[in-house]
Amino acid sequence: MASHIVGYPRMGPKRELKFALESFWDGKSSAEDLEKVATDLRVSIWKQMADAGIKYIPSNTFSYYDQVLDTTAMLGAVPDRYSWTGGEIGFSTYFSMARGNATVPAMEMTKWFDTNYHFIVPELGPNTKFSYSSHKAVNEYKEAKALGIDTVPALVGPVSYLLLSKPAKGVEKSFSLLSLLSSILPVYKEVIAELKAAGATWIQFDEPTLVLDLDSHQLAAFSAAYTELESALSGLNVLVETYFADIPAESYKTLTSLNSVTAYGFDLIRGAKTLDLVKSAGFPSGKYLFAGVVDGRNIWADDLAASLSTLESLEAIVGKDKLVVSTSCSLMHTAVDLVNETKLDSEIKSWLAFAAQKVVEVNALAKALAGQKDEAYFAANAAAQASRRSSPRVTNEEVQKAAAALKGSDHCRATNVSARLDAQQKKLNLPVLPTTTIGSFPQTVELRRVRREYKAKKITEEEYVSAIKEEISKVVKIQEELDIDVLVHGEPERNDMVEYFGEQLSGFAFTANGWVQSYGSRCVKPPIIYGDVSRPNPMTVFWSKLAQSMTSRPMKGMLTGPVTILNWSFVRNDQPRFETCYQIALAIKKEVEDLEAGGIQVIQIDEAALREGLPLRKAEHAFYLDWAVHSFRITNCGVQDTTQIHTHMCYSNFNDIIHSIINMDADVITIENSRSDEKLLSVFREGVVYGAGIGPGVYDIHSPRIPSTEEIADRINKMLAVLDTNILWVNPDCGLKTRKYTEVKPALTNMVSAAKLIRTQL
Ligand code: GLN
Ligand code: ZN
Repeated sequence: MASHIVGYPRMGPKRELKFALESFWDGKSSAEDLEKVATDLRVSIWKQMADAGIKYIPSNTFSYYDQVLDTTAMLGAVPDRYSWTGGEIGFSTYFSMARGNATVPAMEMTKWFDTNYHFIVPELGPNTKFSYSSHKAVNEYKEAKALGIDTVPALVGPVSYLLLSKPAKGVEKSFSLLSLLSSILPVYKEVIAELKAAGATWIQFDEPTLVLDLDSHQLAAFSAAYTELESALSGLNVLVETYFADIPAESYKTLTSLNSVTAYGFDLIRGAKTLDLVKSAGFPSGKYLFAGVVDGRNIWADDLAASLSTLESLEAIVGKDKLVVSTSCSLMHTAVDLVNETKLDSEIKSWLAFAAQKVVEVNALAKALAGQKDEAYFAANAAAQASRRSSPRVTNEEVQKAAAALKGSDHCRATNVSARLDAQQKKLNLPVLPTTTIGSFPQTVELRRVRREYKAKKITEEEYVSAIKEEISKVVKIQEELDIDVLVHGEPERNDMVEYFGEQLSGFAFTANGWVQSYGSRCVKPPIIYGDVSRPNPMTVFWSKLAQSMTSRPMKGMLTGPVTILNWSFVRNDQPRFETCYQIALAIKKEVEDLEAGGIQVIQIDEAALREGLPLRKAEHAFYLDWAVHSFRITNCGVQDTTQIHTHMCYSNFNDIIHSIINMDADVITIENSRSDEKLLSVFREGVVYGAGIGPGVYDIHSPRIPSTEEIADRINKMLAVLDTNILWVNPDCGLKTRKYTEVKPALTNMVSAAKLIRTQL
């Protein structure tokens, strides 16, 4: 019985690659230094898998930045603006595409399916020339081979590559990306030929787009591509790997009828229906099924007994020698190695498995199927599963009951939004085009030091409170001087908008090194929600009241919403996501009510990640949006009409979810807008119907550039062309945390001047 791993984290157990990349980009180390770190990481990962007993070990799953960009390099599809003149693509062109350079901006980055990983979007057009320009896949194969490890080289499949691309600027609307298939396949053929010549016997094509809603034209492209590659692939075992959802029946039919493909990888964690499909639709005889039973997207130890029984039922269908135990997707979406979590308490630790541990689980399952079950290992796993099920730290009856009572019922504010806004205006007395900011102010080195020292108990609580208090008073003063209408306290006490709340809620645990790559060298460290969530004490009330006491202007209370907390955490897998979300919503509701009781009249509940949780397939959107919106409403359904609820979202393309946004029924919505004005217009029109306040960001905070008053005024005027004067708010795109005061002060000065200028023209 064989075992396989779809892919492995590249960053290293202590983010070695991150530091090597950043030092190289800063000019502090050489290309050789970077290559050395990368080689060491690859070698240690291969050895680790080989030592664990994994039969099909992947190569080419390492990347200096991103696997889709690697494919762009392989195909030589470098956009013209990088002035690449051919030859093997080196660091300079590669990192220019990823990050831009002094003269040319980077390529666009977008989310990899519904993960928090971002890939570099290929820009293709009818004139794009393709040529084999990065031998990385072959080089990595040979590198492993030299160590005596025969790997399965992994490539992003040709159809997924094209379906994830976008038409380059200026390309005709009628252009079809899939029409490039016949232009990229010759390069794939060259790569395949070289891999064969180097001794490869297997090849893996990642085709995750196969789990999406595809039309018949797109499915036909899969058949065409793998038929065209058939002779090139002959003699190789070909694995087509899918992941992140179950595979639709039509796609399953197409995929399993391809002659050139000899093995299929399915995600059996997110794709629970795939198992039934394989059972009902049958499986082609003589082909391999790579069963993704070990979760690549989460940090929980596998329930080995349950997986074993799944595998046994598959074995009866596909045959003993054709079933391969695998991970649900690449392990790059989970943390690297539990060994480094020395501070995590041992009970919780026994419930977890990071990438390194998952490799061992996969192998243990394969051995068990082959009749060599490691009884002690399985017994320890069963004991840990049982302890997780029965631990009083996981279950809180009261919370369970309260959350269960929410289902089926609706939660909404008593009065409609227009009436509420009138009531609020009587109290707040704001000018037209009120100005505000999204929450955070620049986080200085000094501020980070204070937080760090307090955490390490190097300074006392009094010292900490007085330092933060001083910072808040500075931020309040700046805003008063700028003459901003609705103030914020600046969030100086917060490291991260989810972690800050997670640390104060029960049911959350934190790792020291549980990093997951987000993009390039950037990693995030999601909290782990392991138990029922409750709020033992108020979390933000002290700081918000303190800030409000410093000014007569309204001070916004600042909270992170339940859906965002959920979507940016590792979530429990022993209850549905919505149940966990309702629990968080109830905890935030208490906080909202305490803020209101504490005299805070405006409360912002950020839902930066609401859209991120949208399921990959349309049929599942409605259900998700329903409970996500419901969760948000739970948090503030109980406040008085005069309490103004804001929400903020870090995106603007919600044309397709606008009705859900309206259903959230916030009083004011601030959104990111700096990059896509035109697209927003239709949304705005709906906003007019809705009647709530809307603050589309008037300038981009992701750039150090300082926008002029005229420029901002121009933007506001454009918005006023479609929006009622009395619903428009004036604010930046997002929080100012990553900016410097030297940028923030002049930018906000211009923003306020622009608002004032336009007020005089109304
Ligand atoms: N209130 C948060 C801040 O300003 C919002 C950030 C976000 O939405 N990503 O930092
Ligand atoms: Zn934002």
